[in-house]
Amino acid sequence: MHAIGIDIGGTKIAGALVDDDGTIIRADRQPSPATDPGQIEDVVVAMVTALAEGEDVTGVGVAAAGFIDAAGSTVYYAPNINWRNEPFKDKLEARLPFPVVIENDANAAGWAEFRFGAGRDATDMVMLTIGTGVGGAVVADGTLLRGGFGSGGELGHLRLVPGGLPCGCGAHGCLEQYGSGRALLRIAGELADAGGIGLPLAAARDASGTLTGAEVGRLIMEGDQGAVSALRQLGAALGQAAASLGAVLDPQLFVIGGGVADAGDLLLDPIRQAYLEHLPARGYHPEARFAIAELVNDAGVVGAADLARVHAAKRLSPA
Ligand code: BGC
Ligand code: ZN
Repeated sequence: MHAIGIDIGGTKIAGALVDDDGTIIRADRQPSPATDPGQIEDVVVAMVTALAEGEDVTGVGVAAAGFIDAAGSTVYYAPNINWRNEPFKDKLEARLPFPVVIENDANAAGWAEFRFGAGRDATDMVMLTIGTGVGGAVVADGTLLRGGFGSGGELGHLRLVPGGLPCGCGAHGCLEQYGSGRALLRIAGELADAGGIGLPLAAARDASGTLTGAEVGRLIMEGDQGAVSALRQLGAALGQAAASLGAVLDPQLFVIGGGVADAGDLLLDPIRQAYLEHLPARGYHPEARFAIAELVNDAGVVGAADLARVHAAKRLSPA
């Protein structure tokens, strides 16, 4: 039976009708109405209704960028969207004829990679999604880690720098402030201010008034020294965090996804290097592999749909 997956991102809302084996049957994509919860809800309802037309649908999984409760029902808090204790499942179920489950966006993406993508041969995997924020998913012994309150795997809010930059979560020094797409723009902006290798970044900024991810991405692909150096700094932060995560979770594989992962090896290399530099028991403990996500833009919708199916199965035969 089909399930619907919805992925709410900072710039777009993606949706798909997905088969049991992760195949997308029909998909849709709309610009995200900024951070307004009411408008986001309207877009999701319209999208699900259109995707479900004429189909038998088991349930809807909605991937959202925030701390979610254990019931898959409420968004406790979203650092980059205006959700505070948002009863998102109830609101959507009041307007849709299907059961809805809310999942963390990175958990959905990580689950999709584990089931159908880069992690299909691993039993223990960590996913980091590098976009507006830094998302995390932990698969331990084949199971998605949820934690006691439902919000396990919020790896972007691991403290990397004591007393460091303020974060949208209310804490300071989180990995997200040093390893996200936004952090890349901050670092690139600092390099542009400093001159030297930052001059091409400064020129790009002057030309369009502000540095965008697309522009920094283009400079990275052209091999611009400043832009590549900014990406290396991002990789160093992420690799350091990966070493610590390795000590806690001991995964065989780290999967790196999100928009910034388009940089491929240019991002993986510095992550791997910093991971090795900081790896506890280096030389004796086996080294984890690092891979770029395979499902790219589809990971969120495919994972959310699959998790909706997992929830439906639980409803039918509670353990
Ligand atoms: C949020 C996570 C989310 C990540 C990526 C973080 O700021 O806390 O819930 O997974 O951004 O969107
Ligand atoms: Zn934080």
